[in-house]
Amino acid sequence: MKLPGHLTLLKLSYLLLAGLPLLVAALAHNRAGRGLWIELGVGLGFVGFSVLALQFALTGKFRHLSVVLGLDALLHFHRQIGLVAFGLILAHVGILSAADSNYAAFLDPRVDWMRALALWVVLGALILLIVTTYWRIPLGIPYEWWRIGHGMLALAVLSIGLAHILRVGWYVDEPWKQSIWIAGTLCAVGLLVYARVWKPYRARRRRWTVNAVRPEKGDAWTLELVPDGHEGMRFRAGQFVWLVLGDSPFSQHQHPFSISSSEHRTPELEITVKALGDFTSRIGEVEVGTHAYIDGPYGSFVLDDATEEVVCVAGGVGITPIMSILRTMRDSGREIPVTLVYGFPAPDQAILLKELEELAHETGWLDLVRLAEYAEPDWTGERGLVTPEFLDRHLPPEAPGLRYFICGPDPMMDGVESYLSSKGVPLERVRSERFNIA
Ligand SMILES: Cc1cc2nc3c(=O)[nH]c(=O)nc-3n(C[C@H](O)[C@H](O)[C@H](O)COP(=O)(O)OP(=O)(O)OC[C@H]3O[C@@H](n4cnc5c(N)ncnc54)[C@H](O)[C@@H]3O)c2cc1C
Repeated sequence: MKLPGHLTLLKLSYLLLAGLPLLVAALAHNRAGRGLWIELGVGLGFVGFSVLALQFALTGKFRHLSVVLGLDALLHFHRQIGLVAFGLILAHVGILSAADSNYAAFLDPRVDWMRALALWVVLGALILLIVTTYWRIPLGIPYEWWRIGHGMLALAVLSIGLAHILRVGWYVDEPWKQSIWIAGTLCAVGLLVYARVWKPYRARRRRWTVNAVRPEKGDAWTLELVPDGHEGMRFRAGQFVWLVLGDSPFSQHQHPFSISSSEHRTPELEITVKALGDFTSRIGEVEVGTHAYIDGPYGSFVLDDATEEVVCVAGGVGITPIMSILRTMRDSGREIPVTLVYGFPAPDQAILLKELEELAHETGWLDLVRLAEYAEPDWTGERGLVTPEFLDRHLPPEAPGLRYFICGPDPMMDGVESYLSSKGVPLERVRSERFNIA
């Protein structure tokens, strides 16, 4: 197994980098100690700063990380560890202020207004980062504006934080130590520039064109994209891309979509989009010939070689990455048994259902369980929601070669994940793709 090795390495690297400032501080340090509380306060500040700097690596735009960890796990960790960093910085301020009034004076504008202003800006920016991240939707902040603001606030915190560390200078007196702090911070900023400037810049030379726009059931549209003068992109069925439509790859309107087409039908790519909000509701109006830019592929929602049997549970538009997996299996002749539980509001809103029914009819390996929340009396499929009893009735017996793929609305995914956990299915055999990364 490759993944656990990578995962352990990533965790170790993270811990090492987060603790690196303490190591650098301890090396070649000749000044006298200042007592437990002050040293603790300073240490927490150092680790808080490095955790903040590491946040720039966790934004979901690094392919290797997203393949090993999955986008939702990565962003979940990014959010949670952001709170930890905030706690560390608060503890740094609180402990030092309580331990020695000279430190409390750092925040007093009457002593040094520039220093106090800068430090208050950092604290304010950290609070804003957290409030707007956790309450973006209730606050009504559009995703694109939030994304720009989040990057700018993070940059402000990091640059003022570095200036503060260098200016105080304790533990950072030698030029080599200062160089490490500056280089580390520049690396973090570089990651942001890489994701938001360099990647779109490079994408200019790998433009795509919308070749067809097909309406689907359930207020969805399939976009077929073809590479414009390049060889296209290799991906694994189940992965997703970040899509920009229009003439500039620098647009802030960049959205993630799973590829719904087969790995074997390249260089064309298809994505199937359900009209939900500002961007997706206009997909049906996109004209053939529109330019597009694709960043990807990302994600770990893919079959591995050890898979002997597959269970998929999809809800609504969550069928898209699973469709890619099934189409790829069909095209490659990899005929392992698949049980697909597909839930939708009503049969006439079930995205790609007809093709799935044909696939189940034509091949011997797909067992399709159609589950409509509401249906006419003549409906021959199942009715209701995905419940533990329903899964008990329809899923095959648990076995080591079985892999589970879940994609759909959050409540459905939470329910299926806890069902599998209650059945003792190990996490590494469950792949989840959450479309809601708010
Ligand atoms: C890995 C992944 C794969 C996805 N695959 C598909 C798919 O195959 N088909 C499909 O129809 N949908 C898919 N989605 C969901 C799709 O990305 C969102 O529905 C879309 O971005 C919403 O944008 P909007 O402006 O139409 O909606 P809005 O109403 O403006 O936004 C709805 C919510 O979508 C999220 N969102 C909005 N803009 C962005 C953005 N630029 N980047 C990230 N999230 C954003 C926010 O949480 C927002 O609150 C996927 C999402 C993820 C994370």
